[in-house]
Order: sequence, then structure tokens, then C-alpha cells
Amino acid sequence: MVVVMSPDATDEDVAQVVERVEEVGGEAFVSKGVVRTIIGLVGDIESFHHLNLRALPGVADVHRISDPFKLVSRQHHPERSTVWVGTEGRRVPIGPDTFTFMAGPCAVESADQTLEAAQMAASAGATILRGGAYKPRTSPYAFQGLGVKGLEILADVGRSVGLPVVTEVVDARDVDVVAEHADMLQIGTRNMANFGLLQAAGTAGKPVLLKRGMTATIEEWLMAAEYIAQRGNLDVVLCERGIRTFEPATRNTLDISAVPVVQTQSHLPVIVDPSHAAGRKDLVVPLSRAAVAIGADGIIVDVHPHPETALCDGPQALLGSELRELAQVARRFPPLVGRELATTP
Ligand code: PEP
Ligand code: MN
Repeated sequence: MVVVMSPDATDEDVAQVVERVEEVGGEAFVSKGVVRTIIGLVGDIESFHHLNLRALPGVADVHRISDPFKLVSRQHHPERSTVWVGTEGRRVPIGPDTFTFMAGPCAVESADQTLEAAQMAASAGATILRGGAYKPRTSPYAFQGLGVKGLEILADVGRSVGLPVVTEVVDARDVDVVAEHADMLQIGTRNMANFGLLQAAGTAGKPVLLKRGMTATIEEWLMAAEYIAQRGNLDVVLCERGIRTFEPATRNTLDISAVPVVQTQSHLPVIVDPSHAAGRKDLVVPLSRAAVAIGADGIIVDVHPHPETALCDGPQALLGSELRELAQVARRFPPLVGRELATTP
């Protein structure tokens, strides 16, 4: 931490800062410039916070230098992590050496629709199946998902096509039942800062896919991941899914630069959701290419056998020629950036 003194700070003001820091066991290194004095602090950062140094006379500003998140930070864990999803026989890595393609319907609507979507996903090369049983809808009148029945359908379909499954949990009370049926829990953009849900997911014993809040900064997103990690679960995968901006041409603006920024700050894998970012299927392939090129650890994409009748997010769901094109991207592009398409063993 660095304390910046104001130009008119006196020697007594500087001495008071040093004294307070030493009282809590810290060390203070004073550096006098021509105009300003700065004081570098070494020691327990939490005890410095309690000193409320900003309120002392002559103090202009206080900056922290180390990351506010610890367990998910690369400062504490320089090697990038790989998170494994699924049980023996169908375990898939998400990490720095591979590119993981996840796909499936936005929502589980029926057994037939989910199976058809899963077969489309699998034949395009996807190795993790997505599908929502609890849908966090903006309108309370919109389809809310099939709940436990949807979890059962997704788990059955996942077994029949041989893919592990990821599904969203929107309420801390449902974490156990979702963890019973799913290989990975998803926490969506609307719940990124639902701290009770994050903590519950931290003890569920399954990996977590944590989407970025649509108005969250990268630091807030990593702090949300820290909540999960702090409960003992370091198997967290981050997902950039677009943020709200002034641009109406897309549903959200994919913040592609978040991928390398996160990778420099955190050891956790980071994937991209081009479907929820764009909200339109014609942009899913170009955004997926961008995701591979920038070094994302994977993508998660909506597919649907009949997008025109989908109960949720039909306009962004792929089928037919777009899905075939995406399959080509998934096969051909990762080797160009030194990665293999992640497969089940
Ligand atoms: C989803 O993946 O189904 C979803 C609702 O995504 P997001 O939370 O990113 O809107
Ligand atoms: Mn959706």
C-alpha cells in the first residue's frame, strides 16, 4: 500500500502516519520528493484498512498495490489452472492447453428437444452439454424453466450422449439438488453478486461456471469468484458474456479484452459466451473465432433444433449452416493458437 501526502503536509503529518502504521506492526518507508512525500507500507493490509489513513491530516490518497482478491489471483498462484468437469469416463478439461466447446439449448423444454439439441451439439464437436432448468427471466410471465424435471431430463440426455452437463442455479436453496444432477453449476450474469448463492456454490462439491455480471467490472467479477474459492472450491471457470453499453446493435457488448486481462490477473480459466453476448445467431461464429484467437479457454453456445419455437432466446440459437460453420471453427482454429480441442477420454 502507498500513502501519498498532499504538497502542504508537514513533517508531523508524515510522522503521524508512520507512527500509526508501526502501532499495528507494519513498516513505513518514507520517500520525500521535491513536491510530495509518499510512504510505502509493508505488512498486514487488513490492519492498515482499519487505520482509516485517508482521514489523517496531510494524507491526499491511499493506493493498494496487491490485488484485493487472493485465492483466485495469479500473484498467489502463477500457474494457470485447469478445471476438470465430469466424472470418470467423461471428464473434460477447461484450461490453458485446450479449447473447450460447450453447447446445448438455452432452456430444457422437453426430453425430445433436449436430446435433439444435445445430438446437434455433440456432432458439432461439443464435449460439455449446457441447458437451463431454472431460467432467470427478466419477466415473471416468461417461461421459468422445468425445475427438477428439467434437471432430470438434462442428466439423462447427458448420459445418453456421453457428455457432462452444466446448468444454472438461481437460488441458494436449490444448490444441492442442482449439484446432484449436474457436473458443473452455472451462476448467471444476474446472480454474479448474489453472495449467499456464491457461498453455497462454494461448498457444493462441483465446479462452477461464473458468468460476468452485465454491469460488473473485472475486479468485481474476480471478487465474486473469490467468494466461491473462499469456501474451499477453487474449481471456478469464468465466462465473459457481454456487458451493457450504449450500443443497441447487439444485446450486450462482448468485452473480448476481458479475456487476456483476466488471464493476467487470475489463474482461473476463462471462456466466452458469444450467444448471450450478441443475442443474434449471425454473430456467434465471428465472435467464436475472436474467442479462439484471443486465447479464451473455450466457448459456450446456444443450439436449438427449432429456434423459431424456442421458449427462450431463439434468435441466438444455432442450427444448420451456422452450426456447421462453428464446428469447423472449433476443429480448425484451436491448433492455430497451440491448443487442442478438448475431448472426453
Ligand atoms: C444462460 O446461459 O442461459 C444465461 C441466462 O446466461 P446469462 O446469465 O449470461 O444471461
Ligand atoms: Mn439464454
